[in-house]
Amino acid sequence: MATGKTYDVAVIGAGVFGAWTAYQLARRGKGVALLDAYGPSNSRSSSGGESRIIRMGYGSDEIYTRWAMRALPLWKEFFERIREPLFHQTGVLWLAHTTDGYESQCVATLGRLGVPIERLSRADLEKQYPQFDLGPVTWGLLEPQSGVLTARRAVQAVVEEASKSGVEYLNAAVLEPRGSGKLASVKTRGGDSIHAGAFVFACGPWLPKVFPDLLGHRIFPTRQEVFFFGVPPGDPRFEPPALPTWINLGDDEAYGMPDLEHRGLKVAIDRHGPPFDPDWGRRVVTLEGLEEARRYVGHLFPAMKDAPVVESRVCQYENTSNGDFLIDRHPAFENVWLVGGGSGHGFKHGPVLGEYVAARITEGGAVEPRFRLATKEEMQHRAVF
Ligand SMILES: Cc1cc2nc3c(=O)[nH]c(=O)nc-3n(C[C@H](O)[C@H](O)[C@H](O)COP(=O)(O)OP(=O)(O)OC[C@H]3O[C@@H](n4cnc5c(N)ncnc54)[C@H](O)[C@@H]3O)c2cc1C
Repeated sequence: MATGKTYDVAVIGAGVFGAWTAYQLARRGKGVALLDAYGPSNSRSSSGGESRIIRMGYGSDEIYTRWAMRALPLWKEFFERIREPLFHQTGVLWLAHTTDGYESQCVATLGRLGVPIERLSRADLEKQYPQFDLGPVTWGLLEPQSGVLTARRAVQAVVEEASKSGVEYLNAAVLEPRGSGKLASVKTRGGDSIHAGAFVFACGPWLPKVFPDLLGHRIFPTRQEVFFFGVPPGDPRFEPPALPTWINLGDDEAYGMPDLEHRGLKVAIDRHGPPFDPDWGRRVVTLEGLEEARRYVGHLFPAMKDAPVVESRVCQYENTSNGDFLIDRHPAFENVWLVGGGSGHGFKHGPVLGEYVAARITEGGAVEPRFRLATKEEMQHRAVF
């Protein structure tokens, strides 16, 4: 391993946050090392899933809507440049149960910011999407330009492009830095030292393990199950464009995607699961989780009532107390940054987050108060979805 060298910045963690941060720093001419214990978007990482939704709606949380609005063209431009079709413009359909809930806040915010949307009545929904049994859904909000990012492959592509721009990728597990002031180097589990002018710890759900005193009670990794159900043979109703990605916060807190790349209809419950260890946690789905997902799919799509599970995954959210990201300096080190807290919604923002962190490191400037460590509490009360 290259230990004699001093990098401008060492980024620890090659998930979506670390990969984009390293890439954006390299595009600003910085000499960057990117390190990961298990590899870019590995199976344990939060970014290692098949697919992630990119949507603009965040209720009245304008800051994340603005970030998503900037992220989508950055992702698309990146995929066009590398000639990889890793964005699926499926549209994202919000299924609303009330007229004064989250979806109405989305309509107001998206309307104000000029995001194209379509408001669909119950009758419109029934006509346009006959494959749904809408139950208590009263209306819908469609974001026609939003869709799905092919997550694992996208992150690996970012790391590949970052390497072409000069980023040095190193496979190593980094230990918690000791001391205070200006950090000169970090040590790896293998005994090497990595020297750099600044350090970014983008360790996702591992942040509480890397910094147990600081973040052990401020980032809450939770176990989340994901299912892919096999669609009926030769039936186009569950593929795009017939079926968009959907979000049903109403009674089930569920979301799903159409049959993309023939992986099956994806369904997951967004409700936080139990605490989870990203290294050793059991990544086999539970019978209760399977039954809940199956019940949900059967209700929402009667034609999928007996559909077989064709794939399943266990991943983890890395939640902050309320769902706001963590982007701040380590309180003991002037040149160490803590970046994470994606909280089940972070993936889409990768390019913008990378840009934001790169700008803070190279240009300085105050950190948005909502991202600061001081706003991360030890009790969870989820407010950002
Ligand atoms: C089931 C599920 C569904 C989701 N759906 C969506 C969605 O639809 N839309 C959306 O926008 N977001 C979604 N998210 C959230 C999103 O995926 C995460 O917020 C995002 O991937 C977090 O990225 P990260 O880079 O912070 O963490 P990670 O991807 O976990 O990356 C952290 C990396 O750090 C490495 N690492 C850790 N410790 C060390 C160390 N000591 N030394 C070296 N390397 C280390 C790990 O190996 C890992 O690769 C979802 C998450 C899950 C789990």
